[in-house]
Amino acid sequence: MLTTRFAPSPTGRLHLGHAYAALFAERSARRAGGRFLLRIEDIDETRCRPAFTQAIRDDLAWLGLTWEEPVRVQSAHFDDYRAVLAALAGRGLVYPCFCTRADIARGSHGQTPDGAPLYPGTCRDLPADLRAARLAEGHPHAFRLDMAKALATCPLPLSYVETGESGETGHIPCHPERFGDIVLARKACPTSYHLAVTHDDARQGVTLVTRGADLRPATDLHRLLQTLMGWPEPAYAHHRLITDDHGAKLAKTAGSAPLRALGLAVITHPLAKGANV
Ligand code: GLU
Repeated sequence: MLTTRFAPSPTGRLHLGHAYAALFAERSARRAGGRFLLRIEDIDETRCRPAFTQAIRDDLAWLGLTWEEPVRVQSAHFDDYRAVLAALAGRGLVYPCFCTRADIARGSHGQTPDGAPLYPGTCRDLPADLRAARLAEGHPHAFRLDMAKALATCPLPLSYVETGESGETGHIPCHPERFGDIVLARKACPTSYHLAVTHDDARQGVTLVTRGADLRPATDLHRLLQTLMGWPEPAYAHHRLITDDHGAKLAKTAGSAPLRALGLAVITHPLAKGANV
């Protein structure tokens, strides 16, 4: 059965862009007589707040949406993500990376498709004794995917099926190598967005991933992780982004008006008097 999900991070109140994303996902499911899920993506425990999780539920209910319970909350499933990391590490596809952001910025000679500095591979070939000593001394480290090794174990080329409203549709070729050795687990967190999102989509039986066009490049990585782990391939529908008056993407951090404030503006507007809002 067609299954979609809305997967916000509880780092602030929902804004109009989230409302569009949630409705896009919910409508895609309902039109097909399918299932609609809500997932809380709160792996970044420094930025996410339980109060915002409750506010997300309230705002979505206020929008008139319903979803299946229980809602998957990623921070309750860190052991699942550790198990995926261990499986990939067991195949020699993962290595610890001790670099700081500054180290990476200094050593990088390119950019990933999302504009981050391309990882220069510094820790990939660390001598085994040095790596073991740093781990034993408790140096903070992330875990990275060895992209070249990972690709060597996959049937290539990879592709995905796009059915959305933003950009080319049909069979789209993937080029995950453009991202270099991606982080699978962060220094302060046992997973990364890419690992958690692909694991959970598979675990929850999501068959159509709907999300904003800004996340479209990441699909190349998600197809790689799905292939490495033998997870099913969902279809993708990327949607347009809601922008402000200056054409910039709405973002919680830029202080875009929360949905509730917009609702209040509508309800208190003189034209709304007597209207059934
Ligand atoms: N949690 C992501 C966000 O809030 C969405 C992830 C996804 O839909 O793949 O932007």
